[in-house]
Amino acid sequence: MSLDPFHGHLTIDLGALAHNYAALRHQAQGLQIAPVVKADAYGLGAAQVSSRLWAEGARAFFVARISEGETLRTALGPERPATIYVLDGAPSGSAPRLLACDLTPVLNSAAQVSEWSSHGRSVKGGLRAALQIDTGMNRLGLRVEEAKALVQSFDGLRGLSIDLVMSHLACASEPAHPANAAQLARFQEARSLFPEARASLANSAGVFLGQDYLFDLVRPGISLYGGGPFGVSHPSLRPVAHLTAPILQIREVRPGETIGYGATFTADRPTRAAIIAAGYADGVLRSFGKAGQVWLGGAYRKVLGRLSMDMTAIEINHDLVVAPGDRVELLGDHVALDDAASASGTIAYECLVRLAPRLQRTYLGAKA
Ligand SMILES: *Cc1c(COP(=O)(O)O)cnc(C)c1O
Repeated sequence: MSLDPFHGHLTIDLGALAHNYAALRHQAQGLQIAPVVKADAYGLGAAQVSSRLWAEGARAFFVARISEGETLRTALGPERPATIYVLDGAPSGSAPRLLACDLTPVLNSAAQVSEWSSHGRSVKGGLRAALQIDTGMNRLGLRVEEAKALVQSFDGLRGLSIDLVMSHLACASEPAHPANAAQLARFQEARSLFPEARASLANSAGVFLGQDYLFDLVRPGISLYGGGPFGVSHPSLRPVAHLTAPILQIREVRPGETIGYGATFTADRPTRAAIIAAGYADGVLRSFGKAGQVWLGGAYRKVLGRLSMDMTAIEINHDLVVAPGDRVELLGDHVALDDAASASGTIAYECLVRLAPRLQRTYLGAKA
Protein backbone atom coordinates (compact mmCIF):
# COMPACT_ATOMS: atom_id res chain seq x y z
CA MET A 1 0.00 0.00 0.00
CA SER A 2 1.57 3.28 -1.03
CA LEU A 3 0.85 6.51 0.77
CA ASP A 4 -1.36 9.11 -0.80
CA PRO A 5 0.77 12.26 -1.02
CA PHE A 6 -2.32 14.49 -0.92
CA HIS A 7 -3.36 13.20 2.49
CA GLY A 8 -2.64 13.63 6.17
CA HIS A 9 -0.35 10.84 7.36
CA LEU A 10 -0.16 9.36 10.83
CA THR A 11 3.05 7.41 11.30
CA ILE A 12 3.16 5.29 14.44
CA ASP A 13 6.69 4.54 15.49
CA LEU A 14 6.64 1.21 17.30
CA GLY A 15 10.40 1.46 17.84
CA ALA A 16 9.75 4.60 19.91
CA LEU A 17 7.00 2.70 21.75
CA ALA A 18 9.54 -0.03 22.59
CA HIS A 19 11.98 2.64 23.75
CA ASN A 20 9.33 4.15 26.05
CA TYR A 21 8.47 0.70 27.41
CA ALA A 22 12.14 0.21 28.30
CA ALA A 23 12.35 3.72 29.81
CA LEU A 24 9.30 3.06 31.99
CA ARG A 25 10.64 -0.28 33.01
CA HIS A 26 13.89 1.35 34.03
CA GLN A 27 11.99 4.01 35.98
CA ALA A 28 9.95 1.25 37.64
CA GLN A 29 13.15 -0.51 38.72
CA GLY A 30 12.53 -3.49 36.45
CA LEU A 31 9.07 -4.33 37.76
CA GLN A 32 6.42 -5.84 35.55
CA ILE A 33 4.82 -3.38 33.15
CA ALA A 34 1.23 -4.11 32.17
CA PRO A 35 0.54 -1.69 29.30
CA VAL A 36 -2.83 0.02 29.18
CA VAL A 37 -4.18 -0.36 25.64
CA LYS A 38 -7.77 0.78 26.19
CA ALA A 39 -9.54 2.84 23.52
CA ASP A 40 -7.54 1.07 20.80
CA ALA A 41 -4.25 1.89 22.54
CA TYR A 42 -5.20 5.55 22.90
CA GLY A 43 -6.15 5.62 19.23
CA LEU A 44 -2.83 4.25 17.97
CA GLY A 45 -3.95 0.66 17.26
CA ALA A 46 -4.20 -1.89 20.07
CA ALA A 47 -3.31 -4.82 17.80
CA GLN A 48 -0.05 -3.33 16.53
CA VAL A 49 0.88 -1.74 19.85
CA SER A 50 0.23 -4.88 21.90
CA SER A 51 2.02 -7.16 19.43
CA ARG A 52 5.12 -4.99 19.60
CA LEU A 53 4.93 -4.76 23.39
CA TRP A 54 4.54 -8.53 23.62
CA ALA A 55 7.78 -8.78 21.62
CA GLU A 56 9.36 -6.46 24.21
CA GLY A 57 8.25 -8.79 27.02
CA ALA A 58 4.83 -7.49 28.10
CA ARG A 59 2.62 -10.37 29.21
CA ALA A 60 -0.41 -8.58 30.69
CA PHE A 61 -2.50 -5.75 29.22
CA PHE A 62 -5.37 -3.59 30.41
CA VAL A 63 -8.37 -2.61 28.30
CA ALA A 64 -11.50 -0.74 29.39
CA ARG A 65 -14.38 -2.50 27.63
CA ILE A 66 -15.11 -6.20 27.29
CA SER A 67 -15.34 -5.68 23.52
CA GLU A 68 -11.81 -4.27 23.52
CA GLY A 69 -10.64 -7.38 25.30
CA GLU A 70 -12.36 -9.61 22.76
CA THR A 71 -10.71 -7.75 19.88
CA LEU A 72 -7.32 -7.84 21.56
CA ARG A 73 -7.57 -11.58 22.30
CA THR A 74 -8.19 -12.23 18.60
CA ALA A 75 -5.37 -9.91 17.56
CA LEU A 76 -2.84 -11.57 19.87
CA GLY A 77 -3.93 -15.05 18.86
CA PRO A 78 -3.16 -18.34 20.61
CA GLU A 79 0.60 -17.93 20.24
CA ARG A 80 0.55 -14.83 22.49
CA PRO A 81 -1.51 -15.92 25.52
CA ALA A 82 -1.38 -12.63 27.44
CA THR A 83 -3.42 -11.89 30.53
CA ILE A 84 -6.00 -9.33 29.47
CA TYR A 85 -7.52 -7.35 32.33
CA VAL A 86 -10.84 -5.61 31.67
CA LEU A 87 -11.20 -2.43 33.73
CA ASP A 88 -14.99 -2.33 33.37
CA GLY A 89 -15.01 -5.60 35.26
CA ALA A 90 -17.84 -8.13 35.24
CA PRO A 91 -21.23 -6.43 34.87
CA SER A 92 -24.24 -8.62 35.44
CA GLY A 93 -24.54 -11.27 32.71
CA SER A 94 -21.07 -10.64 31.27
CA ALA A 95 -19.29 -13.72 32.66
CA PRO A 96 -19.88 -15.98 29.62
CA ARG A 97 -18.29 -13.41 27.31
CA LEU A 98 -15.34 -12.88 29.62
CA LEU A 99 -14.84 -16.63 29.91
CA ALA A 100 -15.15 -17.24 26.17
CA CYS A 101 -12.14 -14.98 25.49
CA ASP A 102 -10.23 -15.75 28.67
CA LEU A 103 -10.51 -12.15 29.89
CA THR A 104 -9.75 -11.28 33.50
CA PRO A 105 -12.19 -8.81 35.00
CA VAL A 106 -11.15 -6.07 37.39
CA LEU A 107 -13.98 -6.52 39.90
CA ASN A 108 -15.27 -3.13 40.96
CA SER A 109 -18.23 -3.77 43.25
CA ALA A 110 -19.81 -6.40 45.47
CA ALA A 111 -22.24 -7.16 42.64
CA GLN A 112 -19.38 -7.80 40.23
CA VAL A 113 -17.68 -9.99 42.79
CA SER A 114 -20.79 -12.18 43.01
CA GLU A 115 -21.26 -12.29 39.25
CA TRP A 116 -17.75 -13.67 38.81
CA SER A 117 -17.65 -15.87 41.91
CA SER A 118 -20.94 -17.56 40.99
CA HIS A 119 -19.22 -18.83 37.83
CA GLY A 120 -16.02 -19.67 39.67
CA ARG A 121 -17.46 -22.05 42.22
CA SER A 122 -17.36 -24.98 39.86
CA VAL A 123 -13.84 -24.15 38.67
CA LYS A 124 -10.88 -25.80 40.37
CA GLY A 125 -8.76 -23.11 42.06
CA GLY A 126 -11.39 -20.49 41.22
CA LEU A 127 -11.54 -17.92 38.48
CA ARG A 128 -8.76 -15.37 38.19
CA ALA A 129 -9.74 -11.79 38.92
CA ALA A 130 -8.30 -8.45 39.86
CA LEU A 131 -9.98 -6.42 42.57
CA GLN A 132 -10.20 -2.66 42.36
CA ILE A 133 -10.20 -0.66 45.56
CA ASP A 134 -11.45 2.90 45.41
CA THR A 135 -8.97 4.89 47.48
CA GLY A 136 -10.33 8.32 46.67
CA MET A 137 -11.14 8.68 42.98
CA ASN A 138 -14.80 7.75 43.49
CA ARG A 139 -15.06 6.21 40.10
CA LEU A 140 -14.91 2.43 40.17
CA GLY A 141 -13.99 0.06 42.95
CA LEU A 142 -14.86 -1.18 46.41
CA ARG A 143 -14.29 1.01 49.41
CA VAL A 144 -11.69 -0.31 51.83
CA GLU A 145 -14.50 -1.18 54.29
CA GLU A 146 -16.34 -3.15 51.62
CA ALA A 147 -13.16 -5.08 50.84
CA LYS A 148 -12.77 -5.83 54.55
CA ALA A 149 -16.34 -7.06 54.80
CA LEU A 150 -15.76 -9.27 51.80
CA VAL A 151 -12.66 -10.84 53.31
CA GLN A 152 -14.45 -11.43 56.62
CA SER A 153 -17.60 -12.85 55.05
CA PHE A 154 -17.91 -16.63 55.02
CA ASP A 155 -17.96 -17.24 51.30
CA GLY A 156 -17.78 -13.80 49.62
CA LEU A 157 -14.57 -14.73 47.83
CA ARG A 158 -15.38 -18.38 47.16
CA GLY A 159 -14.74 -19.32 43.55
CA LEU A 160 -12.28 -16.47 43.07
CA SER A 161 -8.55 -16.40 42.71
CA ILE A 162 -7.67 -12.75 43.31
CA ASP A 163 -4.29 -12.34 41.64
CA LEU A 164 -4.12 -8.53 41.67
CA VAL A 165 -5.35 -5.81 43.99
CA MET A 166 -5.30 -2.41 42.41
CA SER A 167 -6.34 1.19 42.75
CA HIS A 168 -6.06 4.31 40.62
CA LEU A 169 -4.61 7.71 41.52
CA ALA A 170 -6.68 10.83 40.90
CA CYS A 171 -3.88 13.41 41.08
CA ALA A 172 -0.70 11.57 40.11
CA SER A 173 0.15 14.14 37.45
CA GLU A 174 0.58 16.69 40.25
CA PRO A 175 3.33 15.10 42.37
CA ALA A 176 2.86 17.53 45.29
CA HIS A 177 -0.89 16.99 45.56
CA PRO A 178 -1.82 15.71 49.05
CA ALA A 179 -4.34 13.26 47.55
CA ASN A 180 -1.43 11.07 46.40
CA ALA A 181 -0.15 10.26 49.88
CA ALA A 182 -3.71 9.84 51.17
CA GLN A 183 -4.54 7.33 48.44
CA LEU A 184 -1.24 5.54 49.00
CA ALA A 185 -2.02 5.06 52.69
CA ARG A 186 -5.51 3.74 51.97
CA PHE A 187 -4.14 1.40 49.32
CA GLN A 188 -1.51 0.00 51.66
CA GLU A 189 -4.27 -0.84 54.11
CA ALA A 190 -6.40 -2.46 51.40
CA ARG A 191 -3.63 -4.55 49.90
CA SER A 192 -2.71 -5.98 53.30
CA LEU A 193 -6.12 -7.68 53.27
CA PHE A 194 -4.97 -9.78 50.30
CA PRO A 195 -1.46 -10.94 51.16
CA GLU A 196 -1.42 -13.53 48.35
CA ALA A 197 -2.24 -11.09 45.58
CA ARG A 198 0.10 -8.76 43.75
CA ALA A 199 -0.58 -5.04 44.05
CA SER A 200 -0.73 -2.21 41.52
CA LEU A 201 -1.32 1.51 42.02
CA ALA A 202 0.73 3.42 39.45
CA ASN A 203 -0.34 4.72 36.05
CA SER A 204 2.31 6.57 34.00
CA ALA A 205 2.55 9.47 36.40
CA GLY A 206 2.51 7.11 39.38
CA VAL A 207 5.64 5.42 38.03
CA PHE A 208 7.43 8.75 38.48
CA LEU A 209 6.13 9.45 42.01
CA GLY A 210 8.79 7.36 43.72
CA GLN A 211 9.38 3.84 44.91
CA ASP A 212 6.45 3.78 47.40
CA TYR A 213 3.98 3.94 44.53
CA LEU A 214 5.44 1.08 42.47
CA PHE A 215 4.25 -2.09 44.29
CA ASP A 216 4.42 -5.25 42.08
CA LEU A 217 3.11 -4.14 38.73
CA VAL A 218 2.62 -0.76 37.04
CA ARG A 219 -0.02 0.23 34.48
CA PRO A 220 1.26 2.98 32.19
CA GLY A 221 -0.69 4.20 29.20
CA ILE A 222 0.11 7.71 28.02
CA SER A 223 3.86 7.60 28.63
CA LEU A 224 4.20 4.51 26.45
CA TYR A 225 2.72 6.65 23.69
CA GLY A 226 5.12 9.53 24.31
CA GLY A 227 3.11 11.76 26.65
CA GLY A 228 5.07 13.03 29.63
CA PRO A 229 3.85 11.82 33.02
CA PHE A 230 3.22 15.33 34.31
CA GLY A 231 1.62 16.94 31.25
CA VAL A 232 4.89 18.15 29.75
CA SER A 233 7.37 16.27 27.58
CA HIS A 234 9.78 14.04 29.46
CA PRO A 235 13.37 13.71 28.20
CA SER A 236 13.43 9.93 28.51
CA LEU A 237 10.34 9.39 26.33
CA ARG A 238 10.11 9.55 22.55
CA PRO A 239 7.18 10.60 20.36
CA VAL A 240 5.25 7.66 18.95
CA ALA A 241 2.62 9.52 16.89
CA HIS A 242 3.91 11.53 13.95
CA LEU A 243 1.34 13.57 12.07
CA THR A 244 2.08 15.39 8.82
CA ALA A 245 -0.07 17.00 6.16
CA PRO A 246 0.70 18.49 2.74
CA ILE A 247 0.36 22.11 1.73
CA LEU A 248 -2.58 22.59 -0.66
CA GLN A 249 -2.05 26.21 -1.63
CA ILE A 250 0.07 29.22 -0.75
CA ARG A 251 -1.46 32.68 -0.74
CA GLU A 252 -0.60 36.30 -0.16
CA VAL A 253 -3.04 37.95 2.19
CA ARG A 254 -3.29 41.73 1.99
CA PRO A 255 -3.43 44.02 4.98
CA GLY A 256 -7.01 44.29 6.21
CA GLU A 257 -8.06 40.92 4.74
CA THR A 258 -9.18 38.06 6.94
CA ILE A 259 -8.62 34.31 6.87
CA GLY A 260 -11.13 31.52 7.40
CA TYR A 261 -14.52 31.08 9.05
CA GLY A 262 -15.72 33.84 11.29
CA ALA A 263 -12.98 36.11 9.90
CA THR A 264 -11.22 35.84 13.25
CA PHE A 265 -7.76 36.63 11.85
CA THR A 266 -7.14 39.98 10.15
CA ALA A 267 -3.79 40.62 8.48
CA ASP A 268 -2.20 43.83 9.76
CA ARG A 269 0.56 43.61 7.13
CA PRO A 270 1.21 41.62 3.95
CA THR A 271 0.97 38.04 5.22
CA ARG A 272 1.91 34.83 3.49
CA ALA A 273 -0.23 31.85 4.37
CA ALA A 274 0.03 28.15 3.55
CA ILE A 275 -3.21 26.19 3.58
CA ILE A 276 -2.57 22.66 4.75
CA ALA A 277 -4.70 19.52 4.30
CA ALA A 278 -5.44 18.82 7.95
CA GLY A 279 -8.53 19.93 9.81
CA TYR A 280 -10.75 18.82 12.59
CA ALA A 281 -12.01 15.90 10.51
CA ASP A 282 -8.46 14.59 10.72
CA GLY A 283 -8.54 14.91 14.48
CA VAL A 284 -6.68 18.19 14.89
CA LEU A 285 -8.73 19.90 17.59
CA ARG A 286 -10.48 23.13 16.63
CA SER A 287 -9.09 24.68 19.78
CA PHE A 288 -5.57 24.10 18.39
CA GLY A 289 -6.13 27.21 16.26
CA LYS A 290 -5.79 29.61 19.18
CA ALA A 291 -2.18 28.98 20.14
CA GLY A 292 -1.12 26.02 17.99
CA GLN A 293 2.19 25.87 16.16
CA VAL A 294 3.34 23.49 13.44
CA TRP A 295 6.80 22.81 12.04
CA LEU A 296 7.81 23.61 8.46
CA GLY A 297 11.13 24.46 6.84
CA GLY A 298 13.09 24.38 10.08
CA ALA A 299 10.83 26.69 12.11
CA TYR A 300 7.58 26.84 14.03
CA ARG A 301 4.65 28.46 12.19
CA LYS A 302 1.51 29.65 13.86
CA VAL A 303 -2.03 28.84 12.91
CA LEU A 304 -3.96 31.75 11.41
CA GLY A 305 -7.66 31.98 12.22
CA ARG A 306 -9.99 29.03 12.75
CA LEU A 307 -9.32 25.49 11.68
CA SER A 308 -11.86 24.12 9.24
CA MET A 309 -13.00 20.56 8.75
CA ASP A 310 -10.45 19.83 6.05
CA MET A 311 -7.76 22.47 6.33
CA THR A 312 -5.78 24.87 8.42
CA ALA A 313 -3.98 28.11 7.50
CA ILE A 314 -0.49 28.72 8.84
CA GLU A 315 1.76 31.74 8.57
CA ILE A 316 4.99 31.42 6.60
CA ASN A 317 7.62 34.04 5.87
CA HIS A 318 7.92 35.63 2.47
CA ASP A 319 11.34 34.22 1.68
CA LEU A 320 10.57 30.61 2.64
CA VAL A 321 11.12 28.31 -0.32
CA VAL A 322 8.04 26.13 -0.22
CA ALA A 323 5.48 24.68 -2.64
CA PRO A 324 2.15 22.85 -2.58
CA GLY A 325 2.77 19.21 -1.66
CA ASP A 326 5.49 20.03 0.88
CA ARG A 327 4.68 18.41 4.21
CA VAL A 328 4.09 20.15 7.52
CA GLU A 329 4.57 18.45 10.90
CA LEU A 330 1.64 18.72 13.30
CA LEU A 331 2.90 16.14 15.80
CA GLY A 332 6.29 14.50 16.07
CA ASP A 333 9.90 15.31 16.84
CA HIS A 334 9.39 19.08 16.76
CA VAL A 335 5.77 19.47 17.73
CA ALA A 336 5.56 17.60 21.01
CA LEU A 337 2.29 15.91 21.88
CA ASP A 338 2.13 17.65 25.25
CA ASP A 339 2.75 21.07 23.68
CA ALA A 340 0.07 20.52 21.04
CA ALA A 341 -2.29 19.43 23.82
CA SER A 342 -1.67 22.48 25.99
CA ALA A 343 -1.97 24.80 22.99
CA SER A 344 -5.38 23.16 22.42
CA GLY A 345 -6.39 23.60 26.04
CA THR A 346 -6.51 19.86 26.64
CA ILE A 347 -4.37 16.85 27.57
CA ALA A 348 -2.20 14.54 25.48
CA TYR A 349 -4.71 11.68 25.95
CA GLU A 350 -7.48 13.58 24.18
CA CYS A 351 -5.22 14.65 21.31
CA LEU A 352 -4.28 11.03 20.65
CA VAL A 353 -7.72 9.47 20.85
CA ARG A 354 -9.12 12.13 18.49
CA LEU A 355 -6.73 11.25 15.65
CA ALA A 356 -9.26 10.40 13.00
CA PRO A 357 -9.81 7.45 10.67
CA ARG A 358 -9.31 9.73 7.65
CA LEU A 359 -5.57 9.91 8.33
CA GLN A 360 -3.50 7.37 6.45
CA ARG A 361 -1.70 5.24 8.99
CA THR A 362 1.70 3.61 8.71
CA TYR A 363 3.45 1.55 11.34
CA LEU A 364 7.20 1.60 11.68
CA GLY A 365 8.93 -1.27 13.45
CA ALA A 366 6.07 -3.78 13.44
CA LYS A 367 6.94 -7.24 14.76
CA ALA A 368 4.95 -10.29 13.82
C1 LIG B 1 -6.23 4.66 31.88
C2 LIG B 1 -5.77 4.00 33.12
C3 LIG B 1 -4.40 3.80 33.35
C4 LIG B 1 -3.31 4.39 32.48
O1 LIG B 1 -3.17 5.76 32.80
P1 LIG B 1 -2.06 6.69 32.13
O2 LIG B 1 -2.22 7.96 32.85
O3 LIG B 1 -2.40 6.78 30.68
O4 LIG B 1 -0.74 6.05 32.34
C5 LIG B 1 -4.04 3.04 34.46
N1 LIG B 1 -4.97 2.54 35.29
C6 LIG B 1 -6.29 2.75 35.12
C7 LIG B 1 -7.26 2.18 36.08
C8 LIG B 1 -6.74 3.50 34.03
O5 LIG B 1 -8.05 3.73 33.86
